[in-house]
Amino acid sequence: MSERLPWDGHDRYLLVVAHPDDAEFSSGGTIARLVKAGREVTIVQVTSGDKGTPRRDLTTQELVALREKEEEEAARRLGVKTVEFLHKTDGEVEPNLELRGEIVRMIRRHKPNVLITHDPFRAYAFHPDHRGVGLAAHDAVYPSARDPLFFPEHLEEGLEPHKVNEIWYFNAEHPDLFVDITGTWDDKVDSLCAHVSQIGDGVEVFPRVRERCAEMAKDVDFELAEAFKTVVMRM
Ligand SMILES: [Zn+2]
Repeated sequence: MSERLPWDGHDRYLLVVAHPDDAEFSSGGTIARLVKAGREVTIVQVTSGDKGTPRRDLTTQELVALREKEEEEAARRLGVKTVEFLHKTDGEVEPNLELRGEIVRMIRRHKPNVLITHDPFRAYAFHPDHRGVGLAAHDAVYPSARDPLFFPEHLEEGLEPHKVNEIWYFNAEHPDLFVDITGTWDDKVDSLCAHVSQIGDGVEVFPRVRERCAEMAKDVDFELAEAFKTVVMRM
């Protein structure tokens, strides 16, 4: 029997994120806790971060290969067994029907109880990929993933419709779930360290990330938190 955490009652979690490192920055400590508690966590990378470098000596293909390798290593360090790459173009993500269908396929394949993604409803948030991925993932859950006449080609692939129980949004303006990551802060740092192309040795980044996690824990009785806005699906 796996541990029942006070903040969840589910077995399978699916993160749908725009870029390699979004999952670790937003939820690395939470992922580590879930995996340690015996939960199954899968990460879907919508883009492979193919514009994320100031370097001019790398081709797009080389950067994609590098960042996918970094993401797989970061996920491995957290105990995540599966990372799926959708290979959309960095900076050009649109929350269209095609992307919704691909996320529905991921939901039907991995059957999560909880889908974790960017909050697409945060006012004045900047990155269009974050908004696009959050919105497409939000729209994929209901009714598309649940009902068989949406994307019926999935049935021919042997995938069954699936009902997600909850959505958790990170970077939310009004979070209502605060996960204690004080004990898994080191796992979060360790996974972020795999993203060498993005953070180098991390010396400049980690104090800021830690400050943000401390800020998210300011109203709860532990030191470091990751925070989410949760929506329970009643349909
Ligand atoms: Zn991102």
